[in-house]
Amino acid sequence: MTNLPSSLKISPTEIQNGILRGDRRMLAKGITLVESRRKVDVDSAQKILENVMSNTGNSIRLGISGIPGVGKSTFIETIGLKLIEDGHKVAVLAVDPSSPHSGGSILGDKTRMPELSKRVDAFIRPSATGGTLGGVARQTRESMMLCEAAGYDVILVETVGVGQSEVEVSSMVDFFVLLMLPGAGDSLQGIKKGIIEMADMLIVNKADGDNHQLAKRAKNEYEQALRLVSNKKSQIKLCSALTGDGISEIWKDVNMRLENNKAIGSFKNKRINQQYNWMIKMTEDSILQSFRENSQIKESIVAYKSQLEKGQITPVMASHKLLEIFRKY
Ligand code: GDP
Repeated sequence: MTNLPSSLKISPTEIQNGILRGDRRMLAKGITLVESRRKVDVDSAQKILENVMSNTGNSIRLGISGIPGVGKSTFIETIGLKLIEDGHKVAVLAVDPSSPHSGGSILGDKTRMPELSKRVDAFIRPSATGGTLGGVARQTRESMMLCEAAGYDVILVETVGVGQSEVEVSSMVDFFVLLMLPGAGDSLQGIKKGIIEMADMLIVNKADGDNHQLAKRAKNEYEQALRLVSNKKSQIKLCSALTGDGISEIWKDVNMRLENNKAIGSFKNKRINQQYNWMIKMTEDSILQSFRENSQIKESIVAYKSQLEKGQITPVMASHKLLEIFRKY
């Protein structure tokens, strides 16, 4: 029991076995290891991930995005409870590096999904705080693997529909849905074209009560607008996360699309591509990190900066020299 992460006092093997038994407490501890930056924790996490690898991958990974207030947590609560009723085990993870700074609601927060969080077949993990987007995305990917190893067969990954985090989420899920407001065209303008193109399905939420007609009209407007901005034929659906109307149909459609993707091989190909891209990205990030942390490089940068100021070196020459120094290490 030497070299044990002091915060845990449980050995990585116990955590690993616990995860494979479906023990939620152990799963939470495993994710804490994945989120840790301490060397000893990082090593333990990698070992666990390696050992549970063959128990991962057997899930549907669904990304859910939309601006704050659109109804993401209500949607997750409703669809999560339905999935559990259908016999699934549901994990909710989040990619949101901005939450500690923006003061907004923390994605994946249990209090936002009060009923779901009470269920034994649900596991909800708020987004890790204080990391870079790349870091949070890596942690979410690895947490997703641990959830799968613990027997969760639907993983919902939540993110805010405002920017780069959608790119990360869509690169780790099988299907990506974007929730929209019934407030017609304006909310389409607020969302970047790229995000709409990334979405496999657009869902107009809050299609209930007085909003129902508005939502129907919004759906038509979105359909027309989409034809202008995107070549991809995304489906547009209506639902009310609050009443549950439309949720079953949405899930049925997601499943049908995924079954079709499996039949034509694109499901598997997408995952292989995601793994390949992840490998390249992690390697590039590591190279960049060791470049930035290299003390020789740091010193040389200071020296070249002063030479640049005096006009003694060109940026191109300085860059070549920096790379030469880096290659020696
Ligand atoms: P999030 O910030 O995207 O997670 O949004 P929330 O799920 O917290 O929802 C924001 C507000 O919209 C809350 O007051 C919800 O009760 C409400 N809301 C969410 N979904 C619906 C819906 O389908 N219909 C109606 N009428 N209100 C909804």
